[in-house]
Amino acid sequence: MKGFDIIIIGGGLSGSSTALNLSKKGYSVLVIEKEKIQNYKSCAGGMASSMQKFIPIDIHDSIESRIKNVEFRWKASDNVIADLSGESPFWIIKREKLDQLLLDESLRNGVQIKRQLLVVKITKLNDKWEITCDNKMKYISEFIVIADGSQSKWAKYFNLGPKKPKFANTVSIRLKGLGEIPKNAVRFEFGFIKYGFAWAFPLKESLNIGLGTFINNGLLEDQDINNQVIRSFGFDDFSHKLISKKLRIWNGFHSINGEKVLAVGDAASLCDPFLAEGIRPSLISSFYAAECIDQYLSGKVDDLNHYTTIINNSWGRSMAWGRRIAQVFYRFPRTGYQLGIKRKTAPKRIAQILSGEMSYEDIAKRVIRRLLTKSMI
Ligand SMILES: Cc1cc2nc3c(=O)[nH]c(=O)nc-3n(C[C@H](O)[C@H](O)[C@H](O)COP(=O)(O)OP(=O)(O)OC[C@H]3O[C@@H](n4cnc5c(N)ncnc54)[C@H](O)[C@@H]3O)c2cc1C
Repeated sequence: MKGFDIIIIGGGLSGSSTALNLSKKGYSVLVIEKEKIQNYKSCAGGMASSMQKFIPIDIHDSIESRIKNVEFRWKASDNVIADLSGESPFWIIKREKLDQLLLDESLRNGVQIKRQLLVVKITKLNDKWEITCDNKMKYISEFIVIADGSQSKWAKYFNLGPKKPKFANTVSIRLKGLGEIPKNAVRFEFGFIKYGFAWAFPLKESLNIGLGTFINNGLLEDQDINNQVIRSFGFDDFSHKLISKKLRIWNGFHSINGEKVLAVGDAASLCDPFLAEGIRPSLISSFYAAECIDQYLSGKVDDLNHYTTIINNSWGRSMAWGRRIAQVFYRFPRTGYQLGIKRKTAPKRIAQILSGEMSYEDIAKRVIRRLLTKSMI
């Protein structure tokens, strides 16, 4: 039975970027992925360009659009435009391409990947992990990285993240053409979706459209409203089916590591509870996961606890404010829109949030105070 330094469960964005970071450090890595290669992932692909620093390869081939403007609408009217001036700080990448670039480079570095294989059992065997798959194959490793996404089964098994995970409901569709969205702009549409919003992010020749609800378990079952939103982006005729997905969102400070095991990305409940941003925390957590495992394997530390501390400090603190903003904003969306979007300083702040230059923590106290005082009047 072959042994590995690290086995990663899940070969999505978090799994492949963790594999790449670890392989660059010279470790033997096996990725176990339950699906075959997919040519569509329901992710709109919006990411801060500053995240390139967490990826050890050039990802330019996956960039489909460099965003110059952010458009905001309230029920398809009231066009507010934020200008992301200077170097484009926000990109739209094609997720299938990005994941593949990361995996291809990992494979070149010696990472192994087993596809269409499901992990069914994990046990401890003489201080190592023994992983059994649904084809009865067993693999041994020193460390396990849980990267099995929002429907993670293994995060719960190892008691990583919140005991009761919270989910955003989403539906998404990719349509040919850009409708009425300019090629260098993204649009956020508020007012139609109760407890959430809709977004339209342009690829080179198609548009990623998503609808999401973030509080009160809001549902997205009203087809008429969904169609109205999609039409507002400039599409009259669309016969494709919407794809529904639950996204595990940040829900408090929790330990996301155990003894020689840790969780990354959606499995660790890191997704932004206000805007559904999950690429950034996936890349950040993958980067630090590899750093912390490396420190352990090279004898500098004797546990992984600092992984949880780093992620809680570098991401969780901002998300705690993101969650508070979401709870107020989506409960009082019209007021939220008036106060959060239509203010003179809003475009600049929005640009800073999207580019990762500012965190929710930086802006939240002022925003919440404003929202609470106005919504109680
Ligand atoms: C509609 C929608 C739009 C989004 N748009 C954006 C956006 O524009 N910007 C942004 O930053 N974020 C966005 N996100 C969030 C982002 O897509 C996620 O946060 C990101 O995909 C998380 O990556 P991951 O690798 O952790 O999980 P995933 O990409 O879900 O990967 C998990 C992998 O694990 C595999 N797996 C699951 N269980 C097992 C198992 N038992 N054994 C083996 N393999 C397993 C799965 O097949 C999958 O490949 C969006 C999400 C949705 C749903």
